[in-house]
Amino acid sequence: MPLEVKPRFVVLYGSQKGQAQSIAEGIAEEAEEHGLVAELCCLNQDDKYNLEKECAPVVFVVSTTGDGEPPDNALQFVKRIKKRTLSPDHYKHLLYALLALGDTNYANFCNCGKTIERRLRELGARQFYPTGYADDGVGLELVIDPWLKGLWNSIKDALTKMASDRNVQLKEDSAKEIPESSLPDVQLNLLSIADKQICEPDSKYSPSLAISDVRPPPASTVYTSAPNTQACSEGIPQVSLAASLTSSVPPLSESSLNVPALPPAYLDVTLQEADAAEQAAERLSKEARYEVPISKAVQLSKGDSVKTALLLELDISAFPSMTYHPGDSFDVFCPNVAEEVDHLLHRLGLQDQKNHRVQISLKDNTKKKGAQVPPHIPENVSLLFLLTWCLEIRSVPKKAFLRALVEHTSDSAQRRRLQELCSKQGAADYNLYVRDASLGVSELLAAFPSCSPPLSLLIELLPKLQPRPYSAACSLLRHPEKLRFVFNVVEFPACSGRPAGRRGLCTGWLFDLVSPGLVFPEKAELALPKIHVSLRPNCSFRPPSDPSLPFVMIGPGTGVAPFIGFLQQREEERKENPEAKFGETWLFFGCRYRDKDYLFREELENFVSSGTLNHLKVCFSREDRKDEEEPPSAAQPRYVQHNLLLCCRQVTDILLRRNGYIYVCGDAKNMAKDVNETLMEMIKTELQVDQLEAMKTLAGLREQKRYLQDIWA
Ligand code: FAD
Repeated sequence: MPLEVKPRFVVLYGSQKGQAQSIAEGIAEEAEEHGLVAELCCLNQDDKYNLEKECAPVVFVVSTTGDGEPPDNALQFVKRIKKRTLSPDHYKHLLYALLALGDTNYANFCNCGKTIERRLRELGARQFYPTGYADDGVGLELVIDPWLKGLWNSIKDALTKMASDRNVQLKEDSAKEIPESSLPDVQLNLLSIADKQICEPDSKYSPSLAISDVRPPPASTVYTSAPNTQACSEGIPQVSLAASLTSSVPPLSESSLNVPALPPAYLDVTLQEADAAEQAAERLSKEARYEVPISKAVQLSKGDSVKTALLLELDISAFPSMTYHPGDSFDVFCPNVAEEVDHLLHRLGLQDQKNHRVQISLKDNTKKKGAQVPPHIPENVSLLFLLTWCLEIRSVPKKAFLRALVEHTSDSAQRRRLQELCSKQGAADYNLYVRDASLGVSELLAAFPSCSPPLSLLIELLPKLQPRPYSAACSLLRHPEKLRFVFNVVEFPACSGRPAGRRGLCTGWLFDLVSPGLVFPEKAELALPKIHVSLRPNCSFRPPSDPSLPFVMIGPGTGVAPFIGFLQQREEERKENPEAKFGETWLFFGCRYRDKDYLFREELENFVSSGTLNHLKVCFSREDRKDEEEPPSAAQPRYVQHNLLLCCRQVTDILLRRNGYIYVCGDAKNMAKDVNETLMEMIKTELQVDQLEAMKTLAGLREQKRYLQDIWA
């Protein structure tokens, strides 16, 4: 009997938080249904794939992290393909498709995917299916679902194409370009605001104009029990709804559902009694390089300020190698909340076994492609340690997770609702009740009491608990052996599925750690605890290497943090070198109220008095306004961009004629976008050019690393 050989293709992923990885795994798993064999590899497993010789179609799934950087496990690959020594036909044999994941809340949307795509093309590779740019800001599935749907026929077309190319090659010994007409019939569109059926976080912002996208499914296929606009509102829905996290209304409740494939189980997990109590810090110290004491904690916001801003100082004297520069940030490793871990242990029925060692191995016959024991879980940790330090238990369950939970839910109404939430038809409800509300697995289990998943499922499907980055808010020249940072304590409101509000994981934890010293300032000498941190140098967000060049800093709220470091450094340099020529400095700061949240007011005013800071432009968004709805006027700058406009001539002069720099730090969601748009307007006015030219000018500044952002959601 002839042996049937299924055509193969390759799936490569680069993933920071596991999302791109799980999509790539899903593709590999589905391959069989389409009569194909997928080889799945992480981009850093370069001993397992060889693009230089690959003769099968390659599908890339890559996310973007930080300020447009590749995920850690794609870094080496990106470096490799960026080498200028590679010839333009290096990948001319390669046919590829690419799915890029990103978030339009950040400036460099899908930057890693775009970089890989650009280099593949520059190196001669040919695209066999249009690139999908999925936006976490509005819901990744809007692009991912149709993209995946169209992928399979395209892979088959590409395989046919490659086979016929090989035949031609035998005769002509040269590869042919794929004619445009042979590209699969997937509609490519510029994704405009009007195209978006679901949710646009900021209606003023149109996502990357040059981005082509696979069109989301028509709204008619997505049933929601709530008006679409509500899907955009944060926190509690504004009007009373008949539906909720746990119940739906027609048409969804009566619809037949398309649910995702059940993710195959791949881990065997056993718990073994342990003799000795575990030293948590020892286990963690392998990963976090420095365990440092908090030497100072100061509340910067005052009175009844809406946000609580804290400054923490770390004593890094025990680690002389721990040097940093203004503009660098560092990671803080934080644990999950003890009560939430406890609740999860109860729900899993494992409270009595929390000190048992967790043994994890791969299932013998798992169908999961590329299955591996999660590398972020150290061997032989206790169950308590695993849930406290290794898994992001608050992460929003993906649809595959909800699908898997269905199998462990006994009540039929609850099963149905979970099916709805992970179905194509229930996408809007998923967005509204799960994603936008930022519900975690504990909250879901509380809402669906008949659901009892095994521990193995959580280990398979929950991502790694990520450390949180913070920007250094001081200079080592001013504060030797110290590292300061500033943050707002994040507050989540209550919502359907979460009866009480909660704090951000890391900021809530830090607040609890230092609050005894804050509440009783006379106990400032109180021994403050140690925390685990590691440095994340940022080689571009630095003051100009030539100190004679002028620069502009825009940092409202806690976004001012790195600029305090810039200015401290500059002040010390001026003292050391009074004869040197230093460029002009500008800082645009903004907050709600002068008396409540004007962070570092005294220090900033001192910088002005000493001449270190030449121009300080401050605005207060909630002050001196008789009518909150009144539009901002020149006399009443409300946000940093309004002040920026008032200084249009000087700022554009610095950027366009004096080779200066502009730095933006802080909120990615609104501020960074508004500032970007304002800069565009300023360039249009100053250079008398149209939108496209202004965009090119800004892009040029970015490329020259003279327009730099350090922004976060
Ligand atoms: P988490 O528990 O992680 O919750 C925050 C998440 O919840 C966010 O992803 C947000 O999208 C989401 N969210 C927020 N509010 C809601 C809501 N109402 N409903 C639903 N979801 C919501 N932060 C600073 O304060 N200071 C800094 O100097 C600083 N520097 C940074 C530098 C870099 C390079 C980066 C990437 C980030 C930086 N951040 C900084 C952000 C910081 O890392 C954390 O993200 C932030 O402090 C919140 O952490 P958390 O664990 O308390 O919140």
